[in-house]
Formats: sequence, structure tokens, C-alpha cells
Amino acid sequence: MIPGLTEKAYIGLKIKGYVSITPDVNELVKKADLEGVDTVWHRFQYQQPQCGFGLTGVCCRHCNTGPCRVDPFGYGFPTGTCGASPDLIASRDLLDLVVHGATTRLQEALIMINTAKAVAEGRTKDYGLKNPERLHELADTLGLKAEKDLDLLKSLAETLETEIHRLTDEPLLTAVKLVPEEIVEIWEKNDLLPKGFSRELMDANYRSNMGTDSDPISVVKQAIRISILDGLLATFTTTIMDEILLGDKAPGKGRSGLGVISPDNVNIFIRVMPVFAGKIKMAAQDPKLLEMARKAGAKGISVIIPSGNMIMQELPIITGLTEVMVVDHQCIYPHIVEIARKYHTKIVIVDPVAKLPGAIHMPMTPENASRVAKEIVRLAVKNYVNRKPEKIYRPTHISEFTTNPTLNGLKKAFGGSFKPIADAIRDGSIKGVVVMHHCTNPKVKHNYGHYTIAKKLIENDVLVLTMGCSMMAAALTGLAKPDSIKLAGNGLMRLLAAFNLPPVIPLGPCVETTRELLILYEISKELGTPFNKAPFAASAPEWMNGKALSAVLYYMAHGLLSHVGTVPQILAAPGVEKFLTEEMEKITGGKLVIEPDPDAAADIILKHLEKRSLTP
Ligand code: SF4
Ligand code: SF4
Repeated sequence: MIPGLTEKAYIGLKIKGYVSITPDVNELVKKADLEGVDTVWHRFQYQQPQCGFGLTGVCCRHCNTGPCRVDPFGYGFPTGTCGASPDLIASRDLLDLVVHGATTRLQEALIMINTAKAVAEGRTKDYGLKNPERLHELADTLGLKAEKDLDLLKSLAETLETEIHRLTDEPLLTAVKLVPEEIVEIWEKNDLLPKGFSRELMDANYRSNMGTDSDPISVVKQAIRISILDGLLATFTTTIMDEILLGDKAPGKGRSGLGVISPDNVNIFIRVMPVFAGKIKMAAQDPKLLEMARKAGAKGISVIIPSGNMIMQELPIITGLTEVMVVDHQCIYPHIVEIARKYHTKIVIVDPVAKLPGAIHMPMTPENASRVAKEIVRLAVKNYVNRKPEKIYRPTHISEFTTNPTLNGLKKAFGGSFKPIADAIRDGSIKGVVVMHHCTNPKVKHNYGHYTIAKKLIENDVLVLTMGCSMMAAALTGLAKPDSIKLAGNGLMRLLAAFNLPPVIPLGPCVETTRELLILYEISKELGTPFNKAPFAASAPEWMNGKALSAVLYYMAHGLLSHVGTVPQILAAPGVEKFLTEEMEKITGGKLVIEPDPDAAADIILKHLEKRSLTP
């Protein structure tokens, strides 16, 4: 308990009750409260009550005639000034959100393509080709050939780059080469098979312009094509380039929770892409910088890679123990610089494109990554002496977890193939596989949705794969460590006991969302079942942005039941809602399920998996 934080101290504070099921989060939010600092949870309260037009999806600002709004309950005039229906208004917003998410992913992919080309062309010594086996595997799948490995790497990078920038009409190469045939056929038949990224982004912005495409379903289908591109070109590129350039990873041992912070060390929190994160970690081992840290009075230098999920990003600053926080573009609250001003933390942004007023801009590139990483560590060491003792609070919550493996790392951990999972599905030991993914959202109690659904699924013999902030929810709540096998049903326990894996398996940050689909492709191949008939599902219990929504649609396009816990802004658009929750099922086999109650959501998912059971 924070000194001075008695039960009485809670009375009159701005935040009432607990915002999270993760203990340190509540402690630090109360500390912020006592110190007059507004966290995301405070700022969310200031937005209340949120506007009903916006919440239900019928507020339009697509031209300066607006804003137009339609009464969600059917009173008043049924369209905006131009005649746009609630369905059209909601569909355009949905498309815009997905475009924002997918474009962010695209920017990350371009960073990785640039890094791969820098390696292949000898422009950097900071990175190398660590995993030629994975390169060859992927080159074979895509039909690429070259005599030397570096030429093959360049050819892969350039092929993906061409697909990204292509404006012509050929279908997406990675879809045709990677995705199960039956799914590609469905996409082709139903006008969902995307072309190059540039072409589809152009079409997306064209359609959502005022007075252009007035068919809400045509607009939603554009969002689905963009989501497929996101998965199969943007996050795919980031995922495979990470594996090729940084190497394969086996499941390892990690610690999550803000208790990992050490009061004796210089602390650097980082929220950046894996390709840059590793460089900062390496820089912290530099003997000269370590010596400098010792001279400043610290025992060492800690570089802390997300020890919590995105919504917790402000809390390390509030401990008073963080010298530097390094961010890029990945869901960074602009308000962190305001919070940092009240403590001693310096904020550094390393994104080459995005800016953050009040932060120190130190763009990282493949050519300068090691040098900039050292500058960041030096800045942190120098800032150590500026700690304010009266502001220091050391959190205690630490939760061990299994760190995320790469695809081949996980395959090896299962003995060389995903056959054991397929066999367990076939003989009924497990009911299926569910991907839990993406964000946390101050609209709901932090981590509660992720935890409740994952726990109920594993208790009922469902294997859970998890990505992004959902992965960190599993880590923080103890579900992602081998010990949690004791919570699993007997069948799931039997499957995992031999492999020392947890029943909720972490698969990486959300920038690498695609790995789980590549794994599901392999499981379905082992099963010999059409992909969209296999007992798979997805859930984003606390999603909040376009990156998450894009993934939600991408799973639906693959025939998965795709659950969301926080309600999308389509509720006053019955045509759009019906298309996503009912009609999509007739096309791909996948559908959207909107269920805010996590317990009820888990039941819906379980029923769905039972319907898809492959056990005779
Ligand atoms: S596009 Fe139509 S509904 Fe939207 S703001 Fe303009 S006039 Fe209003
Ligand atoms: S999971 Fe969502 S909130 Fe978390 S980093 Fe990714 S997009 Fe942002």
C-alpha cells in the first residue's frame, strides 16, 4: 500500500473503486490521483457521458456540410443532409478505422523491408541474416530463387515491396501462395481477394469519400479486403522479417508486472518495434555505459520491454523510478509527456515519421540503430541523479510467464510439428484453438475480459494462443506460465504436459499478428479439414483501435467466429450489423459476435467449437 493511502484517502478521490484486476495498476492510479496526475482512466472519466450518436455509429463528419447525425432510435429524419443512411455513415467510419490500423501496420512492414534491404545491400552492420532456414522456407513458398542468401533476402524484400506498392489488378501474391485454397476460392468468388496494398488503400479512400460509394456493404467489403492485406502483407512482412533477421525463438522464461523495476538500477522502459528494442537492450550492456551508471550511484541498467499492456504505459513514469521511456508509434498516449513533466522521466520517440511534442526525437534507422541506442542509454544514465525521492513508489507485482516463441520455435516445442494439437482435436481431448488478441480499453475493467474468457476456455479444454496486449494480460494474470496447466481441463492438460507449455501460449506483440494464422494454417493441414470448418475462433475482449478491428475482420474472412467485447460503433446501423454478425457466415463461415459479458462470450465460443467438433 502506498504511504498515506488509507481507506479514508480513497474518499473524494477522482477514481472510485478499482480500474484493474492487476494490483499494481490500482495502486499507481491511486498514487497518481493523490499527486494530482491524470492517467488514462481519469481522462476517460472526463469524457462521460459519451455521445450516443458517436457510440452507435450515426455521427458523420465526412464533409463540411456536417456534422450530421441520425437519431439512433428512429425518431427524426432518417439520413444525414446528403441522404447518407445510418448504415452508410457507420460503414464509412468502420472502413476509415480499419484503414488507419492497416496503414500503421504497413509503415512497420516498410521499416522491416528497409532493414532487410540494408542487410542485403551491406548498408548496415547493425543487423544480419540470422535465420537463413526461415528465409529459404518462405522463399520456396513464394516461388523465389537466388544463388546467394543475401540475394534471396533482397528478392523477398523487393517482392513484398512490389506487392505493397502495386496499383495494378493482379490478386495478392501472399494470399494465393500462403492461404488455404478453399479460403482463396471464397474470397475470389465474393470479391474479397485483395490486390496490391496501394491499389486497395486508394480504393478505400475513394469509396469513403462523401458522395462516392453509397452502398454500405460495398464499403464494408473494402474494409475486409484491407484487413486481409494487413494480415497477409503488412503484419506478415513484419513477422517474417523479425524471424529472418532476429532469429528463431523458443518459448523462454520471462517476468511481467511493474515489480520488475529495480530501484537500484537506471531504468529504461521501451515500447518500440522488436527490431529496435533489441538494440537498446544491447546498448545497456556496454561496459562504458555500465561504468557511467555505477559512477552515478546505480547498480546497473535495466531495459524493460513491455512488462504490462499498452494501457499501463503511463504507470512506470508514476513510480518515479523511470529515467527514460522510449516510444515509437504503437498506441502512444500524447499525454505521457505531460505526466513525465511531473516526474523526472525523459520521453524519447524513435519513430522515423511520427512526432510527439515535448519528447526528444531520435529517429532510429537500420543504419544508425546501435548508435542511437547508446545515446538513449547515456541519456538515461545522466538522468538517474534527477530522481525525486518523495515521488518514488516501488510496485511489487511480478508474474512469471512463458515468453513468446516464433512459429518454428513453437513447432519445435511441440516436437517438430503441430500434429499433437491436431491429434488432440481429432480424438476430442481438446475442443479447439482460440486466438485471443489485441488491446485493453478504459471502458472496461483492465484485463478482466481477457482473463475471464481465457480461463474459462482452458478450463474447458480449449488451447488459447494470444497476441499483443491480450498476451500481456495473460502474462500479468499468471495464465501464460506452465504452472497454470493446473487450471486446464484434463484433455488440454494431457496435451501440454509432455511439452512444458502453458495452456495460454504467448505468440508475440501485435505487430506480429499473422503468426497465429500461419500456425492455424498448419494445424488445419494436419487435420485435413477445410480451414473454415476447423474448430477455431478468435476473441478481442477489450479492443479499441483500427489495428484490432482489422484483425477482427481478418479472422472473419478466414471463417472464424470473431468475438469482440467492447462494442463497435455500428449498433444503429442494422444493415452493417446484420452483414457482419449473420450474412458473413454464409460467405466465409466466419461471423462477428458482439458480447460485452466475458463469461457469456466464453460460452458462445465454446458452443461454436462444439458445433465444429471433428470427433466422431
Ligand atoms: S457526408 Fe453527408 S451525412 Fe456526412 S457530413 Fe456530409 S452531408 Fe452530412
Ligand atoms: S494490442 Fe492494441 S493497444 Fe496493444 S499495442 Fe497493439 S494495437 Fe495497441
